[in-house]
Amino acid sequence: MMKNKRGQVIVISGPSGVGKGTIVKEIMYSDPNLAFSVSATTRAPRVGEIDGRHYHFISREQFNDMINSGDMLEYAEYGGTLYGTPQKSVEKELDDGRDVILEIDTQGAFQIIKKFPDAVSIFILPPSLDELKKRLCDRGTENENSVKIRFGAAERELSLADKFKYLVVNDKLEDAIFDVQCIIRASRLQKTNRSEILEKYNISNKDKRSE
Ligand code: 5GP
Repeated sequence: MMKNKRGQVIVISGPSGVGKGTIVKEIMYSDPNLAFSVSATTRAPRVGEIDGRHYHFISREQFNDMINSGDMLEYAEYGGTLYGTPQKSVEKELDDGRDVILEIDTQGAFQIIKKFPDAVSIFILPPSLDELKKRLCDRGTENENSVKIRFGAAERELSLADKFKYLVVNDKLEDAIFDVQCIIRASRLQKTNRSEILEKYNISNKDKRSE
């Protein structure tokens, strides 16, 4: 049997409240070749969040054990809470040939970009800072203090947007979803992901993927 072509890492980052979660949910829904990396976190579940589906909700002790045994592909502290990407599930999906979506903060994104230089990195921006503040308040999942912390972090995160390959402004949700779908589609057409075509026509392939 022919071995599956390895999937690619897709990092989606951007400030809290920008709509990353909604965009990711929609693109996952319409694309069976995408796998969502379920992060581990020490924060408490929000209403409606399911353990193992939205996050793996674990204690600080369990989180530190995972770090110490090298089970985290990346991790970061955000607003006093730990978030991290479990390594094994990501590697398994990549080996199975699926592209894996990592919806993570900028600190984690940079760790991933270092480890996977060919990762498709996408930064989602709000149409304006005022609009972002409004969305964070309207979301109603955070208390006043958490909104303040998240808005402060948002301003810092926005200044790092230039480190990503692709920038998508989430003004109209359908446009932002389409933009991300187009980026993923184009990334799959890169010659480094099309060895089967190069082989078919006996074209030598000098630019191999680096992971
Ligand atoms: P929330 O508490 O709103 O679910 O997430 C807060 C922030 O943590 C968001 O910016 C989210 O993208 C980020 N985040 C979620 N999972 C991970 C992860 O595994 N690693 C890192 N570095 N950030 C994460």
